[in-house]
Amino acid sequence: MPRESLASKQDRAQKIVKRLKKAYPDSQCSLHYKSPFQLLIATILSAQCTDERVNQVVPRLFQFLPTAKDFMEVNLERLEELIRPTGFYKNKAKNIQACCKVLVEKYDSQIPQSVEELSSLAGVGRKTANVVLGTAFGVPAMVVDTHVSRLSNRMGFCKGSNAVKLEQELMNIVEKKDWVIWTHLLIDHGRAICTARKAKCEECFLIDLCPQREYKK
Ligand code: SF4
Repeated sequence: MPRESLASKQDRAQKIVKRLKKAYPDSQCSLHYKSPFQLLIATILSAQCTDERVNQVVPRLFQFLPTAKDFMEVNLERLEELIRPTGFYKNKAKNIQACCKVLVEKYDSQIPQSVEELSSLAGVGRKTANVVLGTAFGVPAMVVDTHVSRLSNRMGFCKGSNAVKLEQELMNIVEKKDWVIWTHLLIDHGRAICTARKAKCEECFLIDLCPQREYKK
């Protein structure tokens, strides 16, 4: 197959976004949160855990510990007990407590709004930082999770699994205004049709816009 130009990829991405928006009109972050702080904690908890499980845990968690200061001061074992169902709870509790200490002492309990500052917090990687920036603050940010990586590869937009490289490549291809929704749409499509186990190309409404059509002939 000839190498596809950047302009062609950009055009295809725009059409794909349009169709995905039509198919998943309510596409959004599936974690429940009421503030940037809650989204930050929920996203840390979502590592190696389903969003559904996190959503079951956070109402009680934030009821007991509404602020960063509360998280900082709570007994570590108590925090572990509250987040236990999300898995890897010992590490998560330690990170969350360290993260909240910095939020309180350095940022006056506010959430910083740059990738660099956010990802310097304990337990916060680039992906979590971009989730908070894009979803809580509306700052254009590209989140590359497992669905985005898999689908963007299958769609022929990029190659490999290096999240930082994929993030840069996708930011060149997808329109800036669609960076945040791109993640949510690809997650929805990755759960419904282009699943990790099998790409159900025969029932996919993107087949004419996806290089997979070449293999289906
Ligand atoms: S055509 Fe196949 S590979 Fe492409 S997005 Fe649809 S299911 Fe995924």
